[in-house]
Amino acid sequence: MADNAYQVIQISEGQWRIEEGMVRSYLFEGAEKALLVDTGFGGGDIRAVVSGLTKKPVMVVNTHADGDHIGCNGQFDEIYMHPAEYAHYYKNDPNRPSPLPLQEGDVIDLGGRRFEVILIPGHTTGSIALLDREGRILVAGDSISKVPVFMFGPFRNFQAYIFSLKRLSAMGDLFDTIYPSHGPFPVEKDTIDKLIAAAHSFLRGEIPAQTPPYDIPAKMYVTDGVGFFANIE
Ligand SMILES: [Zn+2]
Repeated sequence: MADNAYQVIQISEGQWRIEEGMVRSYLFEGAEKALLVDTGFGGGDIRAVVSGLTKKPVMVVNTHADGDHIGCNGQFDEIYMHPAEYAHYYKNDPNRPSPLPLQEGDVIDLGGRRFEVILIPGHTTGSIALLDREGRILVAGDSISKVPVFMFGPFRNFQAYIFSLKRLSAMGDLFDTIYPSHGPFPVEKDTIDKLIAAAHSFLRGEIPAQTPPYDIPAKMYVTDGVGFFANIE
């Protein structure tokens, strides 16, 4: 069943991008289960789209609780999120569908396809990445992209973000490609080190502020093809 809020692009056997305007969810299918990573803005029936792609039972993992990643959580029964993200998740709506906890090091086994949970605080407190060691893929949420990362407002922290990116950089021999939630797909591994350098430059006040292309209470800071929407404190 198609839904014109979404554009579905098959990446390869058993994996799809589900594009909803500016944000992207991913569907991965294993022998026993399917995993939907994030549920978008909530602008349509993503459940129907997913049902058209896989007959396996679907579990949802939210990379984090920003509104463009949890919009259709209510369409699913089995939702997972890191508990460090719950404060953000429930902040604007205490009645959101309850997520189950995922912890650092947990392995999501879909049957022949596994994803390991890596806690990467910074973009938000409980942001996670998912590492597919066999497929050599890192699903990075909003923390790694070629479009500016949202780093203004509550729950953002640059120091934690740099720490998390350094961890991922040190794990770089475990993956070949990065699947981001925003901007160009996929993203090259060296984007991590570019973001680390950009974050340091931003904190030193070395990147000139630009006006963002959207109406948001932040400036845009871009260098070497990466950057942030942020405010100098
Ligand atoms: Zn996002």
